[in-house]
Amino acid sequence: MPGDLSEKVIVLTGGADGIGRECALAYAREGATVAILDRDLETALRTASEAGGDSIALHADVSDGDALRAAIDAVLKRFGRIDSVHNNAGIASPSKPLHETSEREWDDLQRINVKSVFWTTKYAFEALVASKGAILNTASMVGLIGQQDHAAYVASKGAMISLTKAMAADYARYSIRVNAVCPAGVWTPMLERWCAEQPDPSSIRQYLDDIHLLGSCPHGDVIADAAVFLLSSKARFITGCILPVSGGAELGYRR
Ligand code: NAD
Repeated sequence: MPGDLSEKVIVLTGGADGIGRECALAYAREGATVAILDRDLETALRTASEAGGDSIALHADVSDGDALRAAIDAVLKRFGRIDSVHNNAGIASPSKPLHETSEREWDDLQRINVKSVFWTTKYAFEALVASKGAILNTASMVGLIGQQDHAAYVASKGAMISLTKAMAADYARYSIRVNAVCPAGVWTPMLERWCAEQPDPSSIRQYLDDIHLLGSCPHGDVIADAAVFLLSSKARFITGCILPVSGGAELGYRR
C-alpha cells in the first residue's frame, strides 16, 4: 500500500543521528526517498542505508552555504525534484547567559541553526515551487517559552519560529507550506551531551521526565510522526503552524 509520503523526495539536514535519524527512517517507511545532508557522513551513510530504497547521504555542513548549494544541486541532478526540505540540523551549546557567550559561540549557533534555513530555501526554492512542496523546521519549545542559561540557543529557535511564519506567509502564493515542530526534550546524542554538561547530571534525568506532563522524556519517534504528518497531504491546509510536540511541557504550574 502506498505510504503517506510515497514518490516524495525529501531533503533532510542533520538526518544522520538523533531526531533527524528517526525522521529519515519514518519518511522512508512512508515511501519517501530521503537525501540526508549531514556533516557526519559515515553515520549519515549508515542511516541512509537503513532507510533503504533510493535514499542517499551527502556530506554538508549547514554552516557552509556553498556546501548546501552543492548538496542540493546533487539531489536535483540525481532525482530531478525536491518535494520537501526539513531543516533539522542544529546545535544547542553553550549553556550560558548572553554576557558569558563568546562571539564565536553566538555566530556558530546562529549560522548553523538559522542561516542554514536561508541557504536551503534559496537553493531549493525553484524545485519547491515546481513541486508545490513543503518546508519543515525543527525549532524548540524554548523558542516560544524561553530557557535559563541558553540565550544564544533560545534566540536561534525564536528566530526560526518567526521565520517559519514569515516564510509561510510569503510562500502560500506558490502553494508551498511552511511549518515547524517544537520538541521540549528528546533523548538523542545532543541531549545526552547536554545532560553531561549540567551542574548535577544525576538529577537531570528525573527533571527531564518531570517537565513532560505526559510522563517522560520521549525518543525521536514522537517528533518523526508529527513530521510525517506535516509533510504529507493530510496536512495540505496547514501552514505557518508552530506545533509543540512536547508532552505538554509548556503548560506550566504543575504540582
Ligand atoms: P543531535 O546532535 O543528536 O543530532 C544532530 C544531527 O545533526 C547529527 O546527525 C549531526 O551530525 C547533525 N549536525 C549537527 N550540526 C551540523 C551541521 N553544522 N551541519 C550538518 N549537520 C549537522 O541533535 P538532536 O537532539 O537530534 O537535535 C536535532 C534538532 O532538534 C536540532 O535542531 C535541535 O535544536 C532540535 N531540538 C532537540 C531537542 C532535544 O531535546 N534533543 C529539543 C528541542 C529541539
